[in-house]
Formats: sequence, structure tokens, C-alpha cells
Amino acid sequence: EAAAKAAAVNADSGTPTIFDKIVAKEISSTVIYEDEKVLAFRDINPQAPVHVLIIPKLRDGLTMLGKAEAKHGEILGHLLYTAKIVAEKEGILDGFRVVINNGPDACQSVYHLHLHVLGGRQMKWPPG
Ligand code: ADP
Repeated sequence: EAAAKAAAVNADSGTPTIFDKIVAKEISSTVIYEDEKVLAFRDINPQAPVHVLIIPKLRDGLTMLGKAEAKHGEILGHLLYTAKIVAEKEGILDGFRVVINNGPDACQSVYHLHLHVLGGRQMKWPPG
């Protein structure tokens, strides 16, 4: 039922992704932070000692940042603020990186907007 609900919510904006199943708790994840609007959980293939993904629970057309509209301003701000909450919880406020991969050229693989929060090691610049 939860999966059907997630599918219906996302019917306007492409096929459901694995993140809908994570939100529905049909696929387990290690949750770092959660509220009514967002979920933060550990990346299954971490690229740093701390690698957390933050997603809106309802995709609402946000398959990617490039699909953002003015109506998404509040959730976008909340996602970014959540990055700070996660960094604080993970003890990496002295240095962390927030990444959004947008589209094929940026190697986006899951089409449900997500912020990567990376830290716990010296980050390099420029990223690859
Ligand atoms: P990329 O795969 O190139 O990093 P994205 O920016 O779309 O592209 O990131 C998707 C992220 O989702 C990846 O870092 C991947 O490891 C992560 N991921 C995929 N499936 C799961 C899962 N079941 N649980 C946690 N993280 C996942």
C-alpha cells in the first residue's frame, strides 16, 4: 500500500525509484535524521567516512534539481538546512561537502532529488 501511494504521488514525474521504497521502509536504510518532510540515511556505497543522502519524502516533480520550480523553494531550503543538522550529528561541522548530481553528465543515477553530505576526511578540489 505504501508503495502504491508513493507511485501515485510520483505519477506526474516519472517512474518511482528505490528511494520511494526507502521512504516507505520497504527497503532498510540507516536513518540519521527524519521529519515529516525529509529523510536522511547512509549511502550504501560511501565515498567518504561520512556519506549521507538527504531526500524529500515526496518527490513532487523533483526528479532532479533542474526540475525545480518556485513552489519548491521551501523544501529546497529545508533540505539544505537538514545538511547542517546531519553534519552536526555526524561531528563534521569543521569540514563537509554537499553535492547534488544533476542529470546524466553529472552521473546522477537515482531520479529522486537527493543531497549528498560527505565528510570525515580531507576533501579535494576540484571534484571529478
Ligand atoms: P551516483 O550513483 O553517480 O552517485 P547519484 O547522485 O544519483 O549518482 O547518487 C545516488 C546514490 O544513491 C549513490 O551514491 C548510491 O550509492 C546511493 N544508493 C543507491 N541505492 C541505495 C540504497 N538502497 N541505500 C542507500 N544508498 C543507495
